[in-house]
Amino acid sequence: MSQTQALWTIPNLDSGQAFLDYKLPTLFERLRQIDVEYSKVRFASSMAAEDLVLIDAIAHSKSAISVFTLNTLRLHAESVEMIETIRKHYDIEIEQFLPAEAAIQAYVSQYGENGFYDSVEAKEQCCRIRKIVPLAQALQGCQAWVTGQRNGQVVTRADLAFKELDRERGIEKFNPLFDWTESDVWSYIKVRSVPIHPLHLKGYPSIGCEPCTRPIRQGENIRAGRWWWLQEQKKECGLHQK
Ligand code: SF4
Repeated sequence: MSQTQALWTIPNLDSGQAFLDYKLPTLFERLRQIDVEYSKVRFASSMAAEDLVLIDAIAHSKSAISVFTLNTLRLHAESVEMIETIRKHYDIEIEQFLPAEAAIQAYVSQYGENGFYDSVEAKEQCCRIRKIVPLAQALQGCQAWVTGQRNGQVVTRADLAFKELDRERGIEKFNPLFDWTESDVWSYIKVRSVPIHPLHLKGYPSIGCEPCTRPIRQGENIRAGRWWWLQEQKKECGLHQK
């Protein structure tokens, strides 16, 4: 990361007419389609920009999709505060799923508090106990789940589709923003005055756990700040295994 380049900033955008004419109604139609076809659907939100677009759209369209978040206990304080901010703003429930205390203790004994920096295996194990296991609990009994993934975010998401089979969990997974650009996301936020995570004002386009996320410079891939010490192909936490 070059020290001379400025930090990433929120794009200053004017929403185009095509966005308003096509992408907004298409998003609401996608949510309606999910509501019609499935009765118990949950949305996993990290409170980052894409996820706030979806929360706003779910609230606006009065969708039955319920919202939850994985509180890994390693989040930035701003992310924890954001959960309450969004809950109050939209008057919605946001259920939090936490890792098991015994699993954290076992991890710390084996790898150390921040062992995820030392090996891919230790990182994957940390994500497993803090994210994957709580995600499985959150999705118990669900017919489908929803994510804020986009296919332009990173190479591992390039072939993303609106609807996928989540083979790991045996249920459908929907990515209503799969074909949205970064510009579309920030246009929506501007058009609909969506509250934003304060870390977006400090150079973070993508937000995860505090020790595994850092701000990026202008021109870097928007997920470059996630697990920055790893190669691109290892930069998923296992929530979105193919
Ligand atoms: S992102 Fe980092 S701290 Fe969070 S669960 Fe994964 S390895 Fe652990």
